[in-house]
Amino acid sequence: MSALTPRPGVMGIDPYVGGRSELPGIDRVIKLSSNESPLGPSPRAVEAYREEEDHLAEYPDGGAEALRAAIGQRYGLDPACIVCGCGSDELISLLTRAYAGPGDEVLFPQHGFAMYPIAARGAGAEPVTAPETNLTTDVDALLATVTERTKIVFIANPNNPTGSYISSEEVARLRSGLPDSVLLVLDAAYAEYVTRNDYAAGEALVEASAGGPENVVMLRTFSKIYGLAAVRLGWAFCPPSVADVLNRVRNPFNVTRPAQAAGIAALADIAHVDAAREHNDIWLPWLAEALAGIGLTPLPSVGNFLLVRFPADAGRNADAANDFLNQKGIIPRKVGNYGLPDCLRITIGTEDETKAVAAALTEFMG
Ligand code: PMP
Repeated sequence: MSALTPRPGVMGIDPYVGGRSELPGIDRVIKLSSNESPLGPSPRAVEAYREEEDHLAEYPDGGAEALRAAIGQRYGLDPACIVCGCGSDELISLLTRAYAGPGDEVLFPQHGFAMYPIAARGAGAEPVTAPETNLTTDVDALLATVTERTKIVFIANPNNPTGSYISSEEVARLRSGLPDSVLLVLDAAYAEYVTRNDYAAGEALVEASAGGPENVVMLRTFSKIYGLAAVRLGWAFCPPSVADVLNRVRNPFNVTRPAQAAGIAALADIAHVDAAREHNDIWLPWLAEALAGIGLTPLPSVGNFLLVRFPADAGRNADAANDFLNQKGIIPRKVGNYGLPDCLRITIGTEDETKAVAAALTEFMG
């Protein structure tokens, strides 16, 4: 037996379980379990990544200067307020470690992204959830759950796994209801897919806090619409004091050279991102309609995935549907770990993949 004892909280972590990518005995699976882009990355990003093979002996630019400049230019933001990470997952962990610790609470909605409790426990803090309304972030419930121990509030907007979002007005109401001593993290991993007029990813709130309480951060990722999940690249847009903190706690070379090169090239290919959004705009409503038409309940989603509720009876429930889809080589995401055992989350794949999952579920519902 080991004589070592990890810090309090660590053994309370339920390790993150990623979407499955293989099924025994099936050569070519349809993986709809990780919200990856069916269009893949921009060919320009792939080329930039390949060119890095001649530089593998060299350390990356630890400050990711060119990448931050490219992000700043693309999104109209000050590069000095951008910090890049090994996926936005790393930034979630770093922010939590920097601002919360033993005795503190990290608050997020009931069906919030699974990394929030992992990061909280890893920092020795207590993860706390607030109820949602109709599987949507409830600002009043979050505000009612804040205590003097709350250090960070995370919301994913749009949220994974529900696909729901709250308006920029609601986010602003949340910010103004929180004490200045609480950091609000707006995790906008799916922002590029949202086409609603009342949605904002959060840049303006971050900018509004600069020079004042400096307590709002927006997180973004290259893993979703940019199709670069493998390179692990995310970024935070922060007020200057938070950027300073992140730059102290992050590892010096936390973003690899190939990731930086691919990210810069991906940002320049606006048409590719537009194509990915247009694809989603067609096939997300198509799949929702197809599934509603066979008696399932897809929840309204603004992301690149659908949360689908299944009937309660044993032959037709979410577990049975998952097994049935797996037999057909299709992998959805089970979401029992999110407290949603009656649902499956299904990523919008290619046209063929989307039609295949609709056909399989039509057969399943019989
Ligand atoms: N936030 C949300 C809401 C997500 O769904 C994900 C990906 N599952 C992430 C953050 C992490 O993304 P990455 O680390 O790949 O940037």
